[in-house]
Amino acid sequence: MGEFQAELSPVRRTFAEEGTQQRYQLMDIAQGIPDVIALGRGDPDLPTPGHIIEAAKVAIGRGVDTVTDPGGLLELREAIAEKLLRENGVSADPARGIVVTTGGQEAMYLAVQALLRPGDEILVPDPRYTSYDVAIDMARARMVMVPTSFEDGFQLHAEVMESLVTPRTRCILLISPSNPTAGVLSEQSLRDVCALAIEHDLMVISDEIYEKLLYDDARHISPGSLPGMAERTVTLNGFSKTFCMTGWRLGYLAGPAGVIGEVRRLKNLLSICAPTVSQWAGVAALTGPMDFLSEYMEIYSRRRAIVLRGLDRLGFKYGVPMGAFYVFVDASSIGISAFDLSRLLLEEGHVLIFPGTGFGANWSDFLRISWVQPEEEVREAISRIERTLEGRRG
Ligand code: PLP
Repeated sequence: MGEFQAELSPVRRTFAEEGTQQRYQLMDIAQGIPDVIALGRGDPDLPTPGHIIEAAKVAIGRGVDTVTDPGGLLELREAIAEKLLRENGVSADPARGIVVTTGGQEAMYLAVQALLRPGDEILVPDPRYTSYDVAIDMARARMVMVPTSFEDGFQLHAEVMESLVTPRTRCILLISPSNPTAGVLSEQSLRDVCALAIEHDLMVISDEIYEKLLYDDARHISPGSLPGMAERTVTLNGFSKTFCMTGWRLGYLAGPAGVIGEVRRLKNLLSICAPTVSQWAGVAALTGPMDFLSEYMEIYSRRRAIVLRGLDRLGFKYGVPMGAFYVFVDASSIGISAFDLSRLLLEEGHVLIFPGTGFGANWSDFLRISWVQPEEEVREAISRIERTLEGRRG
């Protein structure tokens, strides 16, 4: 029998893609640079708040050696339902409308598989968190990109979206605040997009993982709270960003019982349930004090100011980051591709930054810079960038 020849899977295709290859190449080079400062990563460097860690210790003492319901601990689903109602105006049924997942990443995969069938189309913002691309490809659905631009802070425009709707369109993906653009959808844009979803009978996946990380006067509105949207919105959230719990791998989906029932079935198949200890930590996170957040936001805000001042001195254009901990920068003035620029900044300046191609093929002139490093490191990285680019600006 000949060697098994599988068609290249969506995951392997993605790893073969230029943007992914470039990112891995940069990370490989970075490993050989001992004093490298990484402004590429997207996971918080700040610690998980102490009361959450204490709750996990108590849970371990009590015993966490059994699995939970595939939908998650009822205590956690109830805490999620209360949080969604209190903070987001979204009502979700803890019994049939919520599934706890192993990180937002798994939630993303499950939502896409539950909602999309082969040949379906989903409207996605360009640029975007490209893990969605693979999940959509695995569902054998088609991604239709909605262009955005830095000039208006990467807003989505319903009239542009409407021109892309076809009889196969099934779903809209919203990520606000956005990775990589840090744009926050304005209330008007959101209302217009939701009206479009209702008019064309589309579902919405709303990835709200950065909802708490907001700057200046930015405000987060959950689409699931708007009239007529509860029955067509799947809200995705997680604990990695707000509570600095990336390694705990905890997230959730909330939405209509039909979709969430399908999610629960798939969740059981993939990993049975999210880790029991992390789920108890999640209960403490959602029911405990939130005062750490204003302290953390002050830290992120100071770092953001350092980065933006540096970019202004360099004359770079960017969409003003209103959320998350990223800025998406137009680096075309330097006159080389963002990948070559990232390599230059890494090899000469010892700063690791990801080129925009990691967030969509159209973004070869853009860089995503993050600030999940201590303030002094961020400051040092910015001066290294300035020194490296001295005399190279177009
Ligand atoms: N959604 C978005 C937009 C993200 O940026 C990320 C991670 O960076 C995730 C989901 C997944 O996060 P996690 O699996 O850590 O919850």
